[in-house]
Amino acid sequence: MEWKIDRIRDRCASCAKVYAHDERVISAITLDAEERAVRRDVCVACKPADAVTIVWWETRFQQHAPKKKKVDFDRLLRVFEAWQKSPPRDSESLLYLITLLLVRKRYLKLVDLVSEEGKEFLRLRKPGPTEQWYLAPAPLLTPADLPPLRLRLEELIDGSIEEEEMPASVDAEAAAGS
Ligand SMILES: [Zn+2]
Repeated sequence: MEWKIDRIRDRCASCAKVYAHDERVISAITLDAEERAVRRDVCVACKPADAVTIVWWETRFQQHAPKKKKVDFDRLLRVFEAWQKSPPRDSESLLYLITLLLVRKRYLKLVDLVSEEGKEFLRLRKPGPTEQWYLAPAPLLTPADLPPLRLRLEELIDGSIEEEEMPASVDAEAAAGS
């Protein structure tokens, strides 16, 4: 698996303006030219307009980067919901990991495993006043697929996933049975 990680975070990815200390920065999960999910950090003036399919959040630029940030699970849920509407290309494994993380944190309830046209999907329910149902792909993964996926997700959502937050198994049958 390969993806590009843009490590230059001290300037706007769109207009290249260098950030001042404490300047507002918009981070957005958007699509690159190949329709793959990428994170772009831009200045307020370059804030993306499409609020339906793009998940974005705001931080302030710090000259001295703070230590690891915790995962914002509400942000993760917004990514999940945005990708229900328009999934990026090759995002199935990533979406599966997001799904398992959200189930583990009880943001989503796993109802069962269904097969459609030879593919497996997790059927999920979001508890709350307006109950929502979702289908998310459950591709076949092995435990060895997890570390690179985890790194990619951490980069995308700008937060590090704690070991105990990680799913214990990538097996969909086991997940649905638990
Ligand atoms: Zn800009």
